[in-house]
Amino acid sequence: MLTQIKGLHHVTAMARDAALNNDFFTRALGLRRVKQTVNFDEPSVYHLYYGDAAGSPGTIMTHFPFPRIARGRPGTGEVGTTAFAVPKGTLGFWQDRLVAEGVGNLEASESFGERRLSFRAPEGDALALVEVADDARAPWTGNGVGAGEAIRGFHSAALRLRDGGGSEELLGFMGYEAEAESHGVRRFVRPGGNGADRIDIEVLPAVERGALGAGSVHHLAFAVEDRAAQLAVRQALLDTGYQVTPVIDRDYFWAIYFRTPGGVLFEIATNEPGFDRDEDSAHLGEALRLPRQHEHLRSALERTLQPLEDRMETTR
Ligand code: ZN
Repeated sequence: MLTQIKGLHHVTAMARDAALNNDFFTRALGLRRVKQTVNFDEPSVYHLYYGDAAGSPGTIMTHFPFPRIARGRPGTGEVGTTAFAVPKGTLGFWQDRLVAEGVGNLEASESFGERRLSFRAPEGDALALVEVADDARAPWTGNGVGAGEAIRGFHSAALRLRDGGGSEELLGFMGYEAEAESHGVRRFVRPGGNGADRIDIEVLPAVERGALGAGSVHHLAFAVEDRAAQLAVRQALLDTGYQVTPVIDRDYFWAIYFRTPGGVLFEIATNEPGFDRDEDSAHLGEALRLPRQHEHLRSALERTLQPLEDRMETTR
């Protein structure tokens, strides 16, 4: 069993409208945009990162806004709900705030003894806020969200699968322990993790595979401390029979990817070097940062990428 994985690193989803995406995750949810870059494999498309002050592993929601993609169709073989942790007693605050934003499908519930508010982001992302006592992670604040209410980082991600067996075995191999079951959902927890250390599995044998599109999660990334830990995890996965990519430099972390038995794309990402690698931590996410191999495209990209702050100006 692996010991190097400490919880989630980031969750990456698809989007269509970059300005709407930016507005919702920064202003409505109160996260900090910690990086504004492009998809390294498709540089005509943004890669936007939202998280806590530093973009700490376990807090980072990221999006690829492809201007012409269709809405995703929810199903199996993908991440269902991405949940963020908020302090106890704050779901009333969040419910009022999200209603005022016109957010749809708000639903309060209780599972695993925790209060949860589920909702859909404007482009369909299935999100939830879950009340957690004593989450020690320091939040980013602003836009009318104070330290008493602010999101602490991820609480969990839920996999929707036709068959959970292989994925449960994989999570066990990755250092997760089966914790409990609630309303047909099985929870796995990484003891001693980074706070974003719960994975839920919902088995839906009769539900068709989801279709990737705006509002769908593209992949889940798990955190390891450094490149040595990543190489050890990579070798262990290869030895177990997984097909794992070579190590890829994503500028702010190093990444390897592999497909899980349930069809979900997993990544293992390093905590090093972090988002202050190429800009001052006081100004993270303000300017378009390009990887060295795409710097020659800068003037074209600055002309063609959708301005992010448009929508905020028109709604003021
Ligand atoms: Zn990733």
